[in-house]
Amino acid sequence: MKGQVALVTGGSRGIGRAIAMAFAEKGVDVVITGLNEERLNHAATEISSKGVRCIAYRADVSKAKEVEGLFDRVMKEFDRLDILVNNAGITRDNLLLRASEEDWDAVIDTNMKGTFLCSQEAIKVMVRQRYGRVINLTSVVAYIGNPGQSVYSASKAGIVGFTRSTALEYAKRGITVNAVAPGFIKTDMTDRIPAKIRQQILDIIPMGTYGTGDDIANAVLFLASPQSSYITGQVIHVNGGMFLG
Ligand code: NAP
Repeated sequence: MKGQVALVTGGSRGIGRAIAMAFAEKGVDVVITGLNEERLNHAATEISSKGVRCIAYRADVSKAKEVEGLFDRVMKEFDRLDILVNNAGITRDNLLLRASEEDWDAVIDTNMKGTFLCSQEAIKVMVRQRYGRVINLTSVVAYIGNPGQSVYSASKAGIVGFTRSTALEYAKRGITVNAVAPGFIKTDMTDRIPAKIRQQILDIIPMGTYGTGDDIANAVLFLASPQSSYITGQVIHVNGGMFLG
């Protein structure tokens, strides 16, 4: 994979940052995107310390114009894109009856529309290259549901259907499209869950611990590597046994 170029959305922290670091350790140049410039620049410094080029580019993945700008920059810097990881995501946890239209729009726009917009731009490049790897981040809650996460789980279930259809469209073009479904991973996203609920979650994880960003990065790395070249349209579950697929 040395010399390849990867774009990791939401690469400034949490799972995305672990994925970007894992690529850097394999000699892959990385572009990371997110909203907060300070976090992005900090992450980029750490990632480039592995001896690869890392570009931090602030872009909101839910805005078509900003995504276009992001891809213009990727092409200007590298003139290729081998790997896209659609990782940027948000939650707005609330019971259905308390969720607002604004919650729905924010979550669906970031998680689903962001995946759609970045995939469109990436696949254009990958079709020309006749090579590409797209990896989308879904979630265990797309499969098992979770009270308070109807909107979020809808966005993540949508990503599963999107992954399968995209995989079929580009299967003959040297492009694979797969998804990783994390269980509960220790990041800022899960740190916001109240302590009592965090304990209840731990009780239903057979391995008895939260996962780490590295656990997810290892699955993404495999799906981005030549070792997975005959795998497309699949979801790899990384969840300590809490859902068996
Ligand atoms: P996180 O720590 O909250 O990080 C989210 C990342 O996404 C940040 O880099 C953030 O940038 C970026 N982001 C948010 N909105 C964006 C937007 N509109 N445009 C561009 N970037 C945006 O989340 P995480 O826990 O690492 O989760 C990463 C992915 O895994 C998400 O898709 C999440 O749904 C999925 N997932 C997580 C878990 C878990 O247990 N943590 C479980 C299942 C699935 P800023 O730093 O600038 O805000």
